Amino acid sequence: MSHPFKELGISAKLIQGISELGIEKPTPVQKQAIPLLLEKDRDLIVQAQTGTGKTAAFGLPLLTKVDGSIPRIQALIVSPTRELAKQIGKNLFRYTKYTSKVFTEVLAGGDKIDVQVGKLKRPTQIVVATPGRLIDLLKREALSLKHVKYLILDEADEMLSMGFKEQLQDIITRCESRRATWLFSATFPAALEDLIKSTVPKDTRRLQIDSGNVVNRKISHYFATCATSEKNDFVIDYLEKKPSEERGLIFCRTKAGAIGLGRALAEKGIEAGVLQGDLTQLERDKVMRAFKKERVPFLIATDVAARGIDVPDLSFVLHHQLPEQIEYYTHRSGRTARAGKRGISLVLLDPRERKKLKRFEKELGISFSAY
Ligand code: ADP
Ligand code: MG
Repeated sequence: MSHPFKELGISAKLIQGISELGIEKPTPVQKQAIPLLLEKDRDLIVQAQTGTGKTAAFGLPLLTKVDGSIPRIQALIVSPTRELAKQIGKNLFRYTKYTSKVFTEVLAGGDKIDVQVGKLKRPTQIVVATPGRLIDLLKREALSLKHVKYLILDEADEMLSMGFKEQLQDIITRCESRRATWLFSATFPAALEDLIKSTVPKDTRRLQIDSGNVVNRKISHYFATCATSEKNDFVIDYLEKKPSEERGLIFCRTKAGAIGLGRALAEKGIEAGVLQGDLTQLERDKVMRAFKKERVPFLIATDVAARGIDVPDLSFVLHHQLPEQIEYYTHRSGRTARAGKRGISLVLLDPRERKKLKRFEKELGISFSAY
């Protein structure tokens, strides 16, 4: 029997690479997007829930189309956070373990810009970048986007939330040879429609996987009513009772809250990394690596870590507070229940926030049970 990815048009060498990552049977978004993207150079807008394999859904067709023998940047992937850009770069690298060489460069803020300038002198076919750093490097003329044929915007709505609208427009304009633009995200808030309108033709094909369910259905949602002053103790108690093999993420709304919780856990001897935007990139990488490599069981994070980050087998996500924006709930809780697994998302709710929780339920089409 032929391999299901072969039927979608993926080469044997790429299949060999993804097999080692446990990617054997295509997810719905992969099944639908890959043949469309391979069929011809076309624009495509794809909405699919968190953790359903969007990276391979655009990565595999892209690696099929990019020509490793041409030493020019043919594809650009833009993503909101440094961690996500690095993760995408790493994924592409792994997919191509057995294929002929395609060079991908990751350009993210916080890394030494001079080193990046140097690296861009080598033949490069694919660039994965965060908008801010990419603009800096373009201003330095360290790279040109004029031969980019494939532009991929991963989680573009978050880039807009971060205030990168103009930068994105600038980047898009610089891709003069753009033949196909692919947008992938789990959430498409209204603000994104403006960008879509100015970037791709009106009749651009849209895929909506499992429409009507924005939030990954494998997640069970809970709330526990808890006064703000008691939340840290609640988290300590929750983590202490967890069986040792269970790993999870705890989201805090503010940097100070994350740091404070980290201290409170450390005092109780509970090991947890703290990831927040004030850390240097080196520190951020170190914390992320320790968590991904399972050297620490828990990670406390602000919303910088909510988008796209893929850590396999997280069994729970705690929300120290409800997030400010509803979309963030989708992305935070979407760090669990990835790759077909199940997961728990538990909100520590200030008694005054009952109404707000109801609004989340209504808008997201989910329901919270009492923990
Ligand atoms: P998304 O971008 O949709 O949030 P990712 O691309 O980060 O999701 O993938 C989530 C996880 O699922 C990753 O660990 C990835 O390796 C895994 N994965 C992707 N495709 C498959 C597949 N077809 N079968 C099993 N696991 C997969
Ligand atoms: Mg993703």
